Amino acid sequence: MTVTTGKVNLLGLTQPQLESFFDSIGEKRFRAGQVMKWIHHFGVDDFDAMSNIGKALREKLKASAEIRGPEIVSEDISTDGTRKWVVRVASGSCVETVYIPQGGRGTLCVSSQAGCALDCSFCSTGKQGFNSNLTAAEVIGQVWIANKSFGTIPAKVDRAITNVVMMGMGEPLLNFDNVVAAMQIMMDDLGYGISKRKVTLSTSGVVPMIEELSKVIDVSLALSLHAPNDELRDQLVPINKKYPLEMLLAACQRYISNLGEKRVLTIEYTLLQGVNDQPEHAEQMVVLLAKIPCKINLIPFNPFPHSGYERPSNNAIRHFQDILHKAGHNVTVRTTRGEDIDAACGQLVGQVLDRTRRSERYIAVRQLQSEPVTTPVATNRS
Ligand code: SAH
Ligand code: SF4
Repeated sequence: MTVTTGKVNLLGLTQPQLESFFDSIGEKRFRAGQVMKWIHHFGVDDFDAMSNIGKALREKLKASAEIRGPEIVSEDISTDGTRKWVVRVASGSCVETVYIPQGGRGTLCVSSQAGCALDCSFCSTGKQGFNSNLTAAEVIGQVWIANKSFGTIPAKVDRAITNVVMMGMGEPLLNFDNVVAAMQIMMDDLGYGISKRKVTLSTSGVVPMIEELSKVIDVSLALSLHAPNDELRDQLVPINKKYPLEMLLAACQRYISNLGEKRVLTIEYTLLQGVNDQPEHAEQMVVLLAKIPCKINLIPFNPFPHSGYERPSNNAIRHFQDILHKAGHNVTVRTTRGEDIDAACGQLVGQVLDRTRRSERYIAVRQLQSEPVTTPVATNRS
């Protein structure tokens, strides 16, 4: 368990929040910028290392504040360059963060919750149930940890982390305030300076929160569609029963058009053999998405034990892609990366404390995962 110190954790504060903090301790607001650079550009967690801050203020800060990232439980590097961190959060659960290098791009896949309450039928995170929301410091702390592993920002001409996707464990829109604060720090030049186009929030469809998101931030949006009609989506993505497709797509369309520029919605579609991978599903998708500016990312199912689903054949995947492509869509098939370190989509399990049993028992998904998985289809991961 993480020790609670009662000090303010500066890691998770946005620039305006940090300015208010300095106000509240009777100090100048410009200190916020200095401290943010130390934290996020230089990866510093020790006030004594902040050489442009006098000793008296450093002592004052030490008494009331701290810079505390989540505890690193493990760091693995795959043969393909993918990196995976398992970090422990305050609730005692562990979540996972994955870094995927590809060409000139480095994408960090960040978790927002320990477990997930939404229970999509093909997702191993969902199978664990919900344990806790991550704090803003725990969300941005994953970027902080990954970034530190590549050295400080000013030292590198090319930043290692060029893109962030909120596609790790959890439903980011159900941990709204903390995820928004963390994304603001990702985009802030005093934080990680990542452009709004390159920070993407992925949601399974929490409609009211898509509307809220639009009011506070302009990051890119990805929708986990997975089915082209309500009957099938009700089974695969249960939140569809509450917010069905028509309502959901209208909300996404509004979000995208509010962004103003030439921005498009990303559609994620996990292909499950014999379930949602038939030509008729692709044809229905063409009709459904006809008026929505989007790019489609097909994700061949990543198997995990006892899921009850299988990955479609390469031929079936190509056929599905072709139908969408011929209808004029920009369609990519996501490569499975980092499979040797269990870092693929839907394989992120961490160690979520099982709250329903009110015990310190960890769900043994990790043990189940030591069973072999089938060879992946390899194309390009976006
Ligand atoms: N909760 C959010 C973000 C996390 S999941 C959401 O659902 O969008 C990130 C993506 O991985 C989602 O599109 C999700 O549906 C997909 N995914 C989950 N389990 C998977 C699996 N076993 N194989 C392939 N993709 C999976
Ligand atoms: Fe939750 Fe996303 Fe998994 Fe669905 S796919 S259970 S929303 S993490």
